[in-house]
Amino acid sequence: MAGIYLHIPFCKQACHYCNFHFSTSLRYKNEMVTALLKETELQKDYLNGEPIETIYFGGGTPSLLEISDLQILIKKIKETFPVSIEVEITLEANPDDIHKEKLVGWKKNGINRLSIGVQSFFEEDLLWMNRAHNAQQAIDNLQLAIDHFNNITVDLIYGHPLLSDLKWKQNIEKVISLNIPHISCYALTVEPKTPLFKLINENKKEDVSPGKQSEQFLQLMQLLIQAGYEHYEISNFAKPGFRSRHNSSYWQGKKYLGLGPSAHSFNGASRQWNISNNNIYFTSLGKNEIPFEKETLTITQQLNEYIMTSLRTMEGTDLNKISEAKRFELRAASRKYIDTGKMIEENNLLKLTNEGKLFADGIAADLFFNQ
Ligand code: SF4
Repeated sequence: MAGIYLHIPFCKQACHYCNFHFSTSLRYKNEMVTALLKETELQKDYLNGEPIETIYFGGGTPSLLEISDLQILIKKIKETFPVSIEVEITLEANPDDIHKEKLVGWKKNGINRLSIGVQSFFEEDLLWMNRAHNAQQAIDNLQLAIDHFNNITVDLIYGHPLLSDLKWKQNIEKVISLNIPHISCYALTVEPKTPLFKLINENKKEDVSPGKQSEQFLQLMQLLIQAGYEHYEISNFAKPGFRSRHNSSYWQGKKYLGLGPSAHSFNGASRQWNISNNNIYFTSLGKNEIPFEKETLTITQQLNEYIMTSLRTMEGTDLNKISEAKRFELRAASRKYIDTGKMIEENNLLKLTNEGKLFADGIAADLFFNQ
C-alpha cells in the first residue's frame, strides 16, 4: 500500500510563521494544474504498481483550487494508479475558503477527509499570525464543514506570546465540544527567513518562550486524553478510528509519491524532492522533465529515520525490527532516559513518557547510530 501527496503551492497571504513553499500569486494556477497532470503521468511507475491507499492535497492552500481542478487531478490519479476503493482523500482547507458549494463539490469528487487550518479561535491571535481568516469564519465555517463531513481534523498552534494558558484551554475545549475527531497541534517555531523571524529580530514582535510551550503541551495532552483522544503521535490526537491514514503511512515507512513543487517522494530505498520554485517546476514539466534532487539512504540512515519517526508514535520503537547488535547498543543508549523517567521499555518497545515527549527530537537524535 502506498500514498500520493500533491503540493498546491498557492496562498492568499503569507502567514508570518510559515516556511512551507507557496506563492501568493495565483496567476499560474492553470499552468500548475497542467504540470501536476504531466508529473502524474511521468511518475506512473514510481510506486511499482502498489495500490494507493491515501491521497493528500496539501500546501499551500489546496482549498483555493476550483472544484474542476480537483476533479481532473483525482480523475488522472485514478486512471494512472491502482487506487483502492477505500481510499482516504484528504484536502487541506482554510476556513475562509469553506462554503456550502465547495463542501458539496469536494464530497462529490471523492474527498472524504478535511484538514482545516483553524490555528486559533481568537481574533488577535489570527491577526498576529497574519492568517487570511478571522475568528468568526473559524467558528462558522468549521460548523458548516461538520455539517457535511464527519472525518475532519483541525490544526491548532500553541506557545505564541499572545496565547495565555486560559486561551489555549478555551481553544482546545472548543474543538472537543464540537466533537472534532482528529486534532493536530503544533508549537509555534520561529524559522529563519520567515517574516516572524525578522519581526522578532527587529523587536517588533515578542519571541516565543520554550517554558510556555512545554506548559501548553502538557495542558494539551491532559485535556485531550481526558476527552477520549488517543495521543498517537507527538503532534496528533484522534478519536478511535480517526487516525490519519496518510500521515500514519509516513511514520510506518510506507512508500509515497509527492507531486508538485517542493513535494518529497520515498520508494523504500531513496528519497527525492522536487524543486521549490513554481516557475521552474511548470516550465520543466512543459519539457517533460521533473526538476528534483535525490538521495539514496544508507542502512544506518534508514534505521535512524525509523527511530526518529517511531519514537514519536504511541506504539514506539520496536526493538524486534532492529538487529541484535544494534538493539544492544540502542538499549544501552536509552538507559539514561529510562532512568530519568523520559522513556520506558515494555514488550520490546521503547516509548517516550509524557515528560519525554517534551524532548522527543533531541532524544531521538541522541539515539541515532553513527554507522
Ligand atoms: S495558509 Fe498554510 S501554507 Fe499558506 S502561508 Fe499560511 S501556513 Fe503557510
